[in-house]
Amino acid sequence: MPIVADNHSGIEKSVPMIPSTLKVNSNRMLAHFEELSMIGATALGGVARPALSNEDLRARTWLVERLEGYGFELRDDAVGNIGGILRSTTPQAKTLLVGSHLDTTLNGGKYDGSIGIIAGLECMLTVREAGIALPFHLEVIDFTDEEGSWQSLFGSMGLTGRLSDEHINDSKQDNAAFRAALLRLGLYASEVREARRDPTTLRGYLELHIEQGDLLDRTRTQIGIVTRVIGRSNFRVTFQGEAVHAATNCSRKRDALQGATCFMTKVYNLPTQCVGGMVNCGNVDVQPGITTIVPATATVHMEVRHPDPDQLAMMEQLVHDTAEQCAGAHGLSVQVRRTLHREVAHMDERLMQVVAEVCEQQQLSYTHMFSNAGHDAQIMAGFTPSALIFIPCKDGISMNPKEYTDWENVENGANVLLHTILRLAMD
Ligand SMILES: [Zn+2]
Repeated sequence: MPIVADNHSGIEKSVPMIPSTLKVNSNRMLAHFEELSMIGATALGGVARPALSNEDLRARTWLVERLEGYGFELRDDAVGNIGGILRSTTPQAKTLLVGSHLDTTLNGGKYDGSIGIIAGLECMLTVREAGIALPFHLEVIDFTDEEGSWQSLFGSMGLTGRLSDEHINDSKQDNAAFRAALLRLGLYASEVREARRDPTTLRGYLELHIEQGDLLDRTRTQIGIVTRVIGRSNFRVTFQGEAVHAATNCSRKRDALQGATCFMTKVYNLPTQCVGGMVNCGNVDVQPGITTIVPATATVHMEVRHPDPDQLAMMEQLVHDTAEQCAGAHGLSVQVRRTLHREVAHMDERLMQVVAEVCEQQQLSYTHMFSNAGHDAQIMAGFTPSALIFIPCKDGISMNPKEYTDWENVENGANVLLHTILRLAMD
């Protein structure tokens, strides 16, 4: 049971229940949001704070200054995650993490990631001002490079001990540049494994995020309780043919791009076989890339997603089968390489129940749903009980300057976060 400290005498007294009318300070939270939105602001009204860029560093500095200014204890680690801690009066207590990410994509919106941090900070301030002593330490956390400018979900992967040499050496960009960018934060690639925390010291992880889809907005539902984050596998599918003159007799051509075209046409139909699945071909790299020469290689960069692990495995198999079929039909060889795999992540049942009870208490409409996008919560879920709470995203538009949600939604989300924390204190 949480206890309330008597600010004058320093004596702590038990209270039967935290009033459901306790709310976050919306004006202060809005002021924080507006300050943060200025950092990396773009002409179109969005923000650009790619991880480890100057803008990201400025946002991180802003957070550290705020945390220090409010007198919270700071915590950092070997992957650059930033933590601010409201200590429990019980020194050996576990830590409840609440957070998200400050980094954005190059042409991102103001809400993605940032509201999870702003709301987490606001919850710490509200709890402290209400004189509530929690039975766990409350830590707001900013995870490094959630968006994958260098290595997606880098901070949460580091905290959970899931980083390997491959994650440092298989960056999308030049490894040396990634290492140099880490060095700007005083981080060494050789030390990132030291960021792993002991899960027995953690009480759980809560993340508030905009939906990045239109289910809540379309159905006028105020809160989404995520049950699972769908799994994803990325592939690099390379068809190998032969570079000959474009005028060569058709029967002698081995055109790699024809193999890739055949493959893409077929894989886009996979969701008809694996209902609920998604396919995206994001890029095609053709060599030598000259109109007078038949393509020798064509590499399709693509991904499949599915909320069901078995169906995801089936989609993976179908990617392989389809690639082989198309290669055979055009006299080509093909190599299929899986470049990334994220398992389907299940959120914690008990936490989902608590969030639902809080929504009822706060008289907010809610629904249970999948997340089709990746979040730090999916990495944390396998490590400590985790919850992912969504608020509506106007028209489902995200990672775009048009990304928007009414401030009332952020306020609702922050209050759900606050009362989830307070209910967990009574567990
Ligand atoms: Zn995000």
